[in-house]
Amino acid sequence: MKVVIIGASFAGVAAALEVRKNNSDAEIILLEKQLTLGYIPNGLHLYWENKISDLDSAYFITKKQLEKQNIHCYLEASVEKVHTDRKVVEYIYQEQEEIITYDKLIIATGSSQLSQKISGSASENVLKYKRHHEAQTALAKINDSQSVAIIGGGQVGIEAADLLSKQQKRVTLIENMDYVLFKYFDKEMIQPLQQKMLEQGIDLRLNQTVSAIEAEGEQPVTVRFGNDSVTSDTVILGVNVRPDLHFLDEHIKLHMDQTIAVDRYMRTSVKDVFAVGDCIQLAYGDGDETVYIPLVNNAVRTGIVAAANLSEPKMAFKGSLRTIGTFLFGYYIASTGITEAESMFTDQTVKAYRQEVCLTSLPDSDTVTIKWVYDAISHVLVGAQMISKSNILEKINTLALAIQTKQTLEELQQKDYFFHPSFTQMIATTNLVSWLEERADENEN
Ligand SMILES: Cc1cc2nc3c(=O)[nH]c(=O)nc-3n(C[C@H](O)[C@H](O)[C@H](O)COP(=O)(O)OP(=O)(O)OC[C@H]3O[C@@H](n4cnc5c(N)ncnc54)[C@H](O)[C@@H]3O)c2cc1C
Repeated sequence: MKVVIIGASFAGVAAALEVRKNNSDAEIILLEKQLTLGYIPNGLHLYWENKISDLDSAYFITKKQLEKQNIHCYLEASVEKVHTDRKVVEYIYQEQEEIITYDKLIIATGSSQLSQKISGSASENVLKYKRHHEAQTALAKINDSQSVAIIGGGQVGIEAADLLSKQQKRVTLIENMDYVLFKYFDKEMIQPLQQKMLEQGIDLRLNQTVSAIEAEGEQPVTVRFGNDSVTSDTVILGVNVRPDLHFLDEHIKLHMDQTIAVDRYMRTSVKDVFAVGDCIQLAYGDGDETVYIPLVNNAVRTGIVAAANLSEPKMAFKGSLRTIGTFLFGYYIASTGITEAESMFTDQTVKAYRQEVCLTSLPDSDTVTIKWVYDAISHVLVGAQMISKSNILEKINTLALAIQTKQTLEELQQKDYFFHPSFTQMIATTNLVSWLEERADENEN
């Protein structure tokens, strides 16, 4: 079996490794348009945090490691056209036009930081840094800048704001919504962090929709929103990512948002063609709804699922819960499942409860604030958010598993856990919700 995979980042690499694990005889070819493969998209943030000494260290895998598994990697191989009727892929390799045939094709071409709504956002002077070469350019440009405008108050934008303000840059952050990180948190949960942003000197412009960026040569950059504007030395585009699928033929069905339509087996509308990672919409939880959730864990898991189903459908994708965790402005924050605000757009009636609990049994214990979002009738957990000055990030994975396996609050009370006074209190943080009626903490409802 000859498997051609387009795109060698998290999704493509996961698919390649899983195909090899399942099939020692398969011929596996990865086509990647960049000079390198396996770059970690927030490498620049790791560098600014002094966690790596240079951007060349921000790789999760190398070509050599893949080749050891007998996976052939063609770098600087840019796919220009796919002919699914003939099972042929056309690509440019070292400036030559080449073709390759396949038995099975996996499309893993991911996404880029793009905005069709903001005029001027495609300019080279508008910094994006998902790829290694973009990060190198951004690093040099930001080193020479005193002031930076950041468009978008999502995870990328807020991480950049934190790290750049620590380098004494003057940071303006412009966000469409009335609070930051709205996809993952309810407003009241994120207020301590937003307050800290202001204290750290971030010029936060909420409820502002950016319409245009004027960025010419070495001139300062002007970002326009409403009747207002901000001028700074440089600008970072931290808005949603989008796929670029110009190379597909008309047989592969797309959604309205130009992502590839796949079923739970990662099969596209064309036989023997699969799609994975940031270029697809995927199932939210175990329902019928599909959504665009561009995260590494989805890229890796969909890559594994596609590889398992090449010959016949064996493994269904279990769905995404949009689980995230990070450290920003002195707070560890994490979220999984739906928020209370988001539940208004579903037909599910939820209840929510927020509590602040001690993390250990020691007198100087830090606390974590947890918000539980659960079905009002069945008490099945559907969402959870956490914020703490201690590193509680791993706990969100327990709650993601609880949502995935449909645990009720009452079942969570029975979840087995260890006790040690230095590390826990008498009942584990992720079990505590079951006391909500008895506890004196504030009840949201
Ligand atoms: C700055 C930043 C930080 C992020 N941090 C996190 C994080 O901390 N945690 C998290 O979960 N997610 C994070 N994300 C999201 C994460 O990067 C994506 O979800 C993930 O990279 C998706 O992996 P992928 O393999 O589907 O696609 P991508 O990583 O986008 O890779 C697609 C690959 O396909 C190649 N390609 C594209 N078109 C062609 C073509 N025509 N021919 C050949 N090759 C092609 C590209 O060069 C690329 O290497 C971040 C995103 C950004 C922008």
